[in-house]
Amino acid sequence: MKFSKAGSAAAVIAALALTATACGGGDDIKSPSASPAGNGGKKIAVGIKFDQPGLALKKPDGTYAGFDVDVARYVAKELGYGPDQIEFKKAPSAQREQLIKNGDVKFIVASYSINDKRKQQVDFAGPYFLAHQDLLVRAGDNSITKPEDLNSKKLCSVTGSTSAQNVKDKLAPKADLQEFGTYSECLTGLENKVVDALTTDDSILAGYAAQPEHQGKFRLTGLSMSDERYGIGLKKGDTELQSKINTALKKMVQDGSWDRAVQANFGPAGYKNAPAPQVTEGS
Ligand code: GLU
Repeated sequence: MKFSKAGSAAAVIAALALTATACGGGDDIKSPSASPAGNGGKKIAVGIKFDQPGLALKKPDGTYAGFDVDVARYVAKELGYGPDQIEFKKAPSAQREQLIKNGDVKFIVASYSINDKRKQQVDFAGPYFLAHQDLLVRAGDNSITKPEDLNSKKLCSVTGSTSAQNVKDKLAPKADLQEFGTYSECLTGLENKVVDALTTDDSILAGYAAQPEHQGKFRLTGLSMSDERYGIGLKKGDTELQSKINTALKKMVQDGSWDRAVQANFGPAGYKNAPAPQVTEGS
């Protein structure tokens, strides 16, 4: 929000504060601008994906939308940062640990599965969501019905993802796996028949399949091949931030914002999500 005069800014902030109180705390995820600037107006850098519709998408007008975006905004608000104080940074799968370690971002909300390997480098708060690894294939292709079928197929996933690792380690070690930098590049490959299938979390794949320009082109196989517990990545050893984010996540579930965010972002894709998981990290 931009104000031409400091006086009118103060008046608007006061009015917003009153409105927020009247609405019961201003927790409505639809009106995040109701939070007055905290932390002395300082910015917070938050890592998200930019190309995962339903989870986190940078739209042509430069705004961001998706479940991870709503979670990031809710958590930032609980840490005292209004929506205008968030600087979203692109966090591709393979760069997440490094972005956190370098201090380029304060935390990352980017379909980021909690696992022991990553926990050697970063800490997580959460989990805040449970997804499952699945496959996206072209609508008319019925030749892939089980993970082993992939051993004779060209498969695409993303460098640094658990999806690619699971294929190599256990799901289909003989598959011709192509690893790209982002899932949207894989999707183009699937559409152009450069690859036969795209594998990652069902939450991500459902978002792609539901985009208006993709209607009728792709199909999720419904093979639930792993549990992916999404956590919020943060600097290793920052137990204070971890515990603050955990508290924010619990509040988001309790006050109904989590359900509203799920409905708003996954509803249009018809994605059937698992209930909110218990927060277990750091305890
Ligand atoms: N959740 C998986 C992971 O963290 C796959 C999705 C992604 O790459 O963001 O690797």
